[in-house]
Amino acid sequence: MVKRGDEQTHSSGRNMTQYEAVIGLEIHIQLNTNSKIFCSCKADSWGDPPNTNICPVCTGQPGVLPVPNQAVIEKGARLAGALHSEILPVSYFDRKNYFYPDLPKGYQISQYDIAIGKGGYVDLPLEDGTTRQVRIEKLHIEEDAGKTIHKPGRRLLDFNRCGVPLVEMVTSPDLRSADEAAAFIHYLRKLARWIGVSDADMEKGKMRFDANVSIREKGATILNPKTEIKNMNSIEHGREAIKAEIKRQIKEVEAGGIIKSWTLDWNEETKTLSKMRSKETEADYRYFKEPDLLPITLDQEKIQELLESLPELPLAREIRFTEEYQISSKEAQLLTQDRSLSDYFEKLLGEYSGKPKIAANWLINDLLGLMNDLGLAIDELFLTPDKLAQIITLVDEGSINTSTGKDLVRKTQEQAKDPRMIVEQEGLAQLTDSGEIEAICQEVIAANPDQVAQYQSGKGGVIGWLIGQVMAQSGGKADPQAVRVTLRKLLS
Ligand SMILES: [Zn+2]
Repeated sequence: MVKRGDEQTHSSGRNMTQYEAVIGLEIHIQLNTNSKIFCSCKADSWGDPPNTNICPVCTGQPGVLPVPNQAVIEKGARLAGALHSEILPVSYFDRKNYFYPDLPKGYQISQYDIAIGKGGYVDLPLEDGTTRQVRIEKLHIEEDAGKTIHKPGRRLLDFNRCGVPLVEMVTSPDLRSADEAAAFIHYLRKLARWIGVSDADMEKGKMRFDANVSIREKGATILNPKTEIKNMNSIEHGREAIKAEIKRQIKEVEAGGIIKSWTLDWNEETKTLSKMRSKETEADYRYFKEPDLLPITLDQEKIQELLESLPELPLAREIRFTEEYQISSKEAQLLTQDRSLSDYFEKLLGEYSGKPKIAANWLINDLLGLMNDLGLAIDELFLTPDKLAQIITLVDEGSINTSTGKDLVRKTQEQAKDPRMIVEQEGLAQLTDSGEIEAICQEVIAANPDQVAQYQSGKGGVIGWLIGQVMAQSGGKADPQAVRVTLRKLLS
């Protein structure tokens, strides 16, 4: 496509229009409280048999009363605070009335016009180094409904999920591409884990989202009719679905058609969108204030305490890392992908006196790979920051060479022993004795007359092969730099 400003006339004589997508997201995040929102049933039923974590309250039996779980209110407020929403001192529960088999009460307790969070935003960093401000339009707490499982000729109901606490939030239509939408979901998932309010495990349905998608001419400010893609539970599938919908809308408009406000379902297997039945409008829900519950109140002191208890947030930490430690933004991004990893990095810097950049490289290049191979989380490692600091220092001092250091990272974790002890027991110390290095070099030269002749006839690259031979003879312990210098000297 051509850029705006130097638009060219198409061969058909028609100007090519450049489009931009306008995307808003609606996200549900399951809070990680022990019990449900209005009863003492276990909230997390993952892996449990159907209908085993239920009681008269969450299944809506007559004569029962809901009791709000304070932890849900605090975690909801905590998430609101982390999104720069105003935490309201008084908010209300409302009844959202609709009939569906997996909603035994016939209504869902949610929040409507006066919810726990008001406003808010995320300054989302984009690939090109700029940021996109994504505003939060709504943020409230509510209970989840149950699950309907469709089997041939049968419909099965599992009420375990009834009353599981959720935060629902809706963004303004501020995102401009499928990739930006994916980046936003990615950030939100990280944030929820970072502040400890949700596992946000999308595979287990603990975070799911819908996307509202429309297109318009690039630079325009109008909002065109939008479609809604429902129930996406993976970032990658969401990205694909939104991309496909943007493409479909452009094709439709280019062909002279109009976009209708459909609700769409993404089929992950066939990678196609299909139309769902039309959706109820808000008025159909007949919202009213929940008569069985008092307003939610949080006094100023409590709100202050909640805000002060928030840790440094991921984006702020990422920016601080680049400034304070002189590492690239890519490195800072990798190191702040989760909070424990970034804490590990700072503990490592507390133990290691060299350059932060060197420590960052060891963490990214060696430790992350090791964790991945062994399937371990950072808090499960035997290789704590002080031990990794020892290894890097041994390399910096020249006590062991770099490749021995890399092996030592793995050995320390696998053998669960102090790195210095392993170096001693296995005799891994770097061979720096020039007499010994020279002796090995001479052996290698004597044993490989062909390669030596090649080197001396001008094939300088052969030196690498000879260095390799000497390194192998030394059991990988020789100082490679000293080997190179010695070989050059002996062969000149
Ligand atoms: Zn219950």
